[in-house]
Amino acid sequence: MRKIGNCYIEITSKCNLSCKHCYNQSPKNPNEEISYKAICSLVDNLFISNAKSITLSGGEPLLHKNFLKILDYITKRGLNATIVTNGTLINTKFIEYIKKYSLLTLQISLDGATAETNDIVRGHGSFNKTIHNIDQLKKSGIKKIFVKMVVSAYNKEDIKAFYNLISYYDYLPIFGLLERQGNASGKQDMFIQNVDDLYKIHLLIGELMMKNNREDVNPIQYGYICPLTDDKSEINLCINYKGCVLPCQLLYSDEYILGNINDHDLLHIFKNEKYKTILNNIKSASKEKLANCNQCICKSICRGGCRGKAFHLGNFYGTDGGCLFRKKQTNHLLYRYATNKKSIVS
Ligand code: SF4
Ligand code: SF4
Repeated sequence: MRKIGNCYIEITSKCNLSCKHCYNQSPKNPNEEISYKAICSLVDNLFISNAKSITLSGGEPLLHKNFLKILDYITKRGLNATIVTNGTLINTKFIEYIKKYSLLTLQISLDGATAETNDIVRGHGSFNKTIHNIDQLKKSGIKKIFVKMVVSAYNKEDIKAFYNLISYYDYLPIFGLLERQGNASGKQDMFIQNVDDLYKIHLLIGELMMKNNREDVNPIQYGYICPLTDDKSEINLCINYKGCVLPCQLLYSDEYILGNINDHDLLHIFKNEKYKTILNNIKSASKEKLANCNQCICKSICRGGCRGKAFHLGNFYGTDGGCLFRKKQTNHLLYRYATNKKSIVS
């Protein structure tokens, strides 16, 4: 059985917003949620499997009818959990509740440093509500909070201002890069197409993250080995609001469903033939891609890239769209090495 790092659980498809880039298209999906009983059984299985952490997401997880009971159960089991929320529904009751639990972290989504940039993506009025609630959280003394901005062509000029805004509250600003899935998939104008722009953003975020010693959260990564292709790595499962178990958040499609927690428990699913077949297919697709990368300077670091991203670009065996960026970065690093530069930006 593979080791589990994090398990990302979409406990509900319900959402009070309708973001332009929502990866699972909430709230267009029918309102569905995983039952409290199924979540408890999943948490038990994750505990037995020594999973490191759980992420509760949606939709908007605060809309699950048993949300606070779910938090009780997870914390009773002693598991670390992160709640991914749009931050608009946080109220005094919720704040008082999570103050009790040191194992909980909040990750709040905010996609800009002003209402103007954020609300284009997340809807009118959402910026002011979320900032008001961040302020309330701060006043109540809650410390473990990340605020995440998904960087797109719409808000790329806001990166520094966003960093300063969130740092003002003493919370950790983090960044993600828009992925080509869900609501965003057909919206070409949302994506940063130019590799030089992408590279500048990578450097800027890297520089900002260094201030907090958190270079690991730069969303535009240089190279990584897909954990699904390396038997020794921990995998980060995704459970969607229908209870389907997926190998990761990007391989979010019917063809990658490993099983369903409403039919079988997770430990049983790990023994399925389907589970083995899908993981083997991902491994062989990565090998096949890497075999075509012979001339590439990045080959030993990149290992062929991300199959999830390649899948969303329409060819599971093809590029993940990051090749030009990685080559540029490699040349930059080699130049820095050759010229003994210390700064990451010059
Ligand atoms: S396919 Fe991509 S997102 Fe999924 S585990 Fe591999 S590298 Fe990560
Ligand atoms: S950067 Fe692209 S071409 Fe180079 S090794 Fe990675 S996937 Fe292959």
